[in-house]
Amino acid sequence: MTEAERAEQIMRFIYTLRSRGVTDPAVLRAMEKIDRGAFVTGIFAERAYEDTPLPIACGQTISQPSIVALMTEALEVNARDKVLEVGTGSGYQAAILSQLARRVYTVERHRALISEARAAFNRLNLHNITAIASDGSFGLPDQAPFDRIIVTAAAEDPPGPLLAQLRVGGIMIVPVGQSDAVQSLIKVRKLDSGFDYEELRPVRFVPLLEGMAKD
Ligand code: SAH
Repeated sequence: MTEAERAEQIMRFIYTLRSRGVTDPAVLRAMEKIDRGAFVTGIFAERAYEDTPLPIACGQTISQPSIVALMTEALEVNARDKVLEVGTGSGYQAAILSQLARRVYTVERHRALISEARAAFNRLNLHNITAIASDGSFGLPDQAPFDRIIVTAAAEDPPGPLLAQLRVGGIMIVPVGQSDAVQSLIKVRKLDSGFDYEELRPVRFVPLLEGMAKD
């Protein structure tokens, strides 16, 4: 691909994100800067700039870019924030967050995905991401509390340990619902007095599973 073709591809990509309702300039800048092609390998690599989820290793998927952007926008990340992502997958969402936050912790139950994501972060010189192989349903107690938490696998309910690890004033974005049905993207705000829940849109994510994967 020539440089002109590459520029054209990115321009179309950003145009698509805008047409799907993404407006935050900082989020659009991050989406422009981070090459999604670095997180998709093999035969699907050439489709990295399509607004579609794609298969990655371990039978998982890299999310649709417009959903990554809309979830990131809904998370309202500030430059000083410490963010937790549950469900590293390819690492793409974490890479986008790394452009907006002070530090990103991302956890994944497939060890192989963690090694691949770490390699991609190094290649792209993203040094404010810590990728850890662990069951994210329990969060990351050692690093809590978090200013922001984003879950990229669907839970039946927002997991209690994650709600507990959110700072007061913090925001969590989580897809909620049964794995084989349409799920709802939920925005949770932790207040002094409890939690405020807002339903954002229907989504479809792989399920949040318990325990580490065997592979
Ligand atoms: N955010 C990813 C896409 C995530 S797909 C990206 O940008 O590419 C959802 C991921 O959540 C899968 O990789 C799956 O293995 C992981 N997952 C599911 N249950 C989990 C759990 N309990 N703890 C950590 N990761 C989990």
